[in-house]
Amino acid sequence: MRATAEGTQFDVVVIGGGPGGYAAALYGASAGLSVAVVELDKVGGTCLHRGCIPAKEFLETAAVARTVAGAKEFGVQAGQPTVDFAVSQGRKQKVVDQLHRGLAGLMKGRGITIFEGVGTLQADRRVHVRLTDGQERELVGRDVILAAGSLPRTIPGFEVDGRYVLTSDEVLALDTLPASTAVIGGGAIGCEFASMFSDLGTQVTVLEALPTLLPGCDDDVVGVVTRSFRKRGIVVHTGATVRGHTPNGSGTTVEFGDGQAVPVDVVVVSVGRRPRSEGLATDEAGVTIDARGFVVVDDHMRTSAPGVWAVGDLVDTPQLAHVGFAEAIVAVKGMLGEQVVPVDNAKVPWAIYCHPEVAFAGLTESQAAEQGLAVVTKKDPFGGNSRAQIIGDTDGVVKIVAEKLPDGTAGRVLGVHMCGPWVTEQLSGGYLAVNWEAYPDEVAQFVQPHPSLSETFGETMQALTGRGLHVG
Ligand code: NAD
Repeated sequence: MRATAEGTQFDVVVIGGGPGGYAAALYGASAGLSVAVVELDKVGGTCLHRGCIPAKEFLETAAVARTVAGAKEFGVQAGQPTVDFAVSQGRKQKVVDQLHRGLAGLMKGRGITIFEGVGTLQADRRVHVRLTDGQERELVGRDVILAAGSLPRTIPGFEVDGRYVLTSDEVLALDTLPASTAVIGGGAIGCEFASMFSDLGTQVTVLEALPTLLPGCDDDVVGVVTRSFRKRGIVVHTGATVRGHTPNGSGTTVEFGDGQAVPVDVVVVSVGRRPRSEGLATDEAGVTIDARGFVVVDDHMRTSAPGVWAVGDLVDTPQLAHVGFAEAIVAVKGMLGEQVVPVDNAKVPWAIYCHPEVAFAGLTESQAAEQGLAVVTKKDPFGGNSRAQIIGDTDGVVKIVAEKLPDGTAGRVLGVHMCGPWVTEQLSGGYLAVNWEAYPDEVAQFVQPHPSLSETFGETMQALTGRGLHVG
């Protein structure tokens, strides 16, 4: 299986060493394939260096500050906390560096060859590499995986300058906290940053173009997050069109809506991410790229060029690291000729780490209605959960959407939507229920520990059988 020829021919050449690319490399190598990875920066990609990991580390700093601020309620006198963000930045970097060393070591241990430089796919699965030291190489893969990831999107009138206008790349490198910020875009990144900054003492205004925060999440979940944000003093404007901003030396004023304006220290633009496909492949490579820049793939992650696959943020599937991992496995199994189960993108797990956290899988109530499905729903707020009261974190809800059977009872679980304390760690039961197409009475048989936050999921499922304990 292993290809040879003095280090230029490989079973698989992967362009991009982020979650999609490194997962493909690790999985391929563990299946006995010879693998090369071309990476222009550091393996780990956006997720490890400028995304998921640093963002969640800062959100943990925010959680610690929130806990200390609320300590007196428990009789623990700690005073009002102050935050030295440079220390937090240092801690974040330590976590990132440690994970990076671990990943690099793992890849080396599996015999994966890493080329530091920019890769361009040419015809016949040849990959031209411009190495960072200026040299050039040509690699040939029996198969090639494109995994070049994505970059923050920007909007006209808000050129990223690192001073007044930041994207996630710049926010995650800050050493000091702004006194005030306007976050443009109330999606996953916007809500995580709004929550983090607010807990750390920054005055936050969120400007979201659509009618609600977190478009795509279930309405009940969005309601809890929006109320919690407002209760903590975050100003939320939805249906807001931003027009531009006017710097004034010490900060800038963002103009939006019908003549409204908000003066802030910095603007954070979080309006989505675009695929990084420019210059990735020559025309002769034969890879189709759509008008928005996504590499076009089928559900086996095959591009239009034979032997060329694409995974991760480069393709038009949920932009989540764990989806990239799953797609990488699909691609490698495909090239090995093994049976493949495509990723069901409508049922992948989502986890958003703002406070309160959000986690879900499957259809929302309104998506089910749009598809013409009759449903039964139940929801249980975390307010009645004993563990939530013990930890003093009761904002939240679990909502389950099930198909309505002809007799009016609940059939297959279509969607599980959670908002509240540590729900990102509690979704797996709901994720399995949705993907196993389980019925509530099957899931309700499983016992949840008491007292635990996960009882709220169990109780909601129990209620869907027609009889509940605490939930009617
Ligand atoms: P997003 O698509 O989740 O949200 C962007 C938001 O910006 C949307 O609500 C959109 O309506 C709004 N918007 C777009 N243009 C606007 C404008 N001109 N003015 C005001 N609002 C505008 O994108 P994101 O939050 O930037 O995240 C990028 C990607 O990374 C997403 O796919 C996201 O799911 C993923 N991500 C996921 C997580 C997580 O799951 N924890 C965390 C970070 C990022």
